[in-house]
Amino acid sequence: MRQKRYAVIGGGINGLAVARQLILENPDIQVTVFEKEDSVAQHQSSHNSGVVHAGLYYEPGGLKATLCRRGVDLIRAYCTEHNVPYDECGKVVVALKDEELPRLEAIYRKAQANGVPDVRLIGPEELKEIEPNCVGIRALYSPRTAIVSYGQIAEQIAREIQMKGARICLNSPVHKLIERSDQVHIELQSGEVFPQGFDYVVACAGLQSDRLAMNSGDKETPKIVPFFGQYYVIDETYKSHVKGLIYPVPDPRFPFLGVHFTKRIDGQMTIGPNAFISMGRENYTGDRFNLRDIVDYLGYGGFWKFAARNVPSTLRELRTVVSKSIFVREAAKYVPSLANVSVSPAVRGIRAQAMEGDGSLADDFVIRQTGRVTHIRNAPSPGATSSLAIGEHIVRNLIRSH
Ligand SMILES: Cc1cc2nc3c(=O)[nH]c(=O)nc-3n(C[C@H](O)[C@H](O)[C@H](O)COP(=O)(O)OP(=O)(O)OC[C@H]3O[C@@H](n4cnc5c(N)ncnc54)[C@H](O)[C@@H]3O)c2cc1C
Repeated sequence: MRQKRYAVIGGGINGLAVARQLILENPDIQVTVFEKEDSVAQHQSSHNSGVVHAGLYYEPGGLKATLCRRGVDLIRAYCTEHNVPYDECGKVVVALKDEELPRLEAIYRKAQANGVPDVRLIGPEELKEIEPNCVGIRALYSPRTAIVSYGQIAEQIAREIQMKGARICLNSPVHKLIERSDQVHIELQSGEVFPQGFDYVVACAGLQSDRLAMNSGDKETPKIVPFFGQYYVIDETYKSHVKGLIYPVPDPRFPFLGVHFTKRIDGQMTIGPNAFISMGRENYTGDRFNLRDIVDYLGYGGFWKFAARNVPSTLRELRTVVSKSIFVREAAKYVPSLANVSVSPAVRGIRAQAMEGDGSLADDFVIRQTGRVTHIRNAPSPGATSSLAIGEHIVRNLIRSH
């Protein structure tokens, strides 16, 4: 019998996790990963906060909640097995004002429903023991939240799958997938059709996922709208002011978690990310723009509906985009001893956030399978935490359905 052939589009952490899971489930198949860049994990997978989220915020029963919880166990075990650094530094979500308390308690209830281990609400005294320089009237403590380098994990998975026989085709941007009755053909951006057809294809194209899906005949929505997140690195001499991760209580009027203090696995301490519309899907420096990407969202009705609903939060974020001192001041509300800290900009990250036609942001992961092709249409945070579980979920569904 002919060996089954699978293709994965995208060599970010999710694509690599899918490729690995395919090999784990069936070592006899042939797996080929197509990546448009000259090395793996050049986009979201290496431009993020590096947090292994414990599963605090997500709607119980949803994909984010279940795959995040499973993902934590798999990532921790993977790091142990492959000697990749994993630091369970812990996290506090801190309320500064009374009005934030009901929201903090709601997060606690969700965390419990999601089975997050050892999570508890604490008062200001215990907060001082955990984070001596942090102020707040109440906090949620998640001691098992951890940090890693997802870029490093992705590179390790790439080495592992290559050793197990997978092929990674770098510099290979895919334009579209052409599904025939018994095979899927891959047309590259050069116009060339890859000589081999595939039995099944999984597309994990991150910031380009909607374009690849649409070119291949999938629905137009949800559409990717890129939101960048700026980080600043705290001066070395001040980094000991924060021990682990300090987060605000998320503002319900805004879809992201808010600027936080993040310890990095390399020992650096960063503040960020804020969230603002990006002038390009892969524009990491911020001083250039990509006209096609801008026209894409400006021409999308959903974007204007989103913008109209989010004027106050957009203005709030804009202040942190234009002024470094406002950015630092926002964070220093939680750690006042850092009010005058000097910081230097770090490379920003750009979120592939899927937006529906009515202007709402797709909250859960969106994974869509039709026939022989599966597209990940939305995998924002905690997408890296969940990656190995996303791989497991997609591959087992694929096996079940064929
Ligand atoms: C600022 C920020 C902070 C975050 N913080 C966290 C965090 O702390 N914890 C967490 O769990 N998650 C976090 N995330 C989310 C996490 O980074 C993503 O969920 C995860 O990296 C998504 O991985 P991916 O493989 O789906 O996408 P990507 O890493 O973007 O990979 C997609 C890959 O597809 C390739 N590609 C695209 N189009 C094509 C094509 N046509 N042909 C071939 N290849 C193609 C790209 O080059 C890329 O390598 C954060 C994200 C951002 C932006």
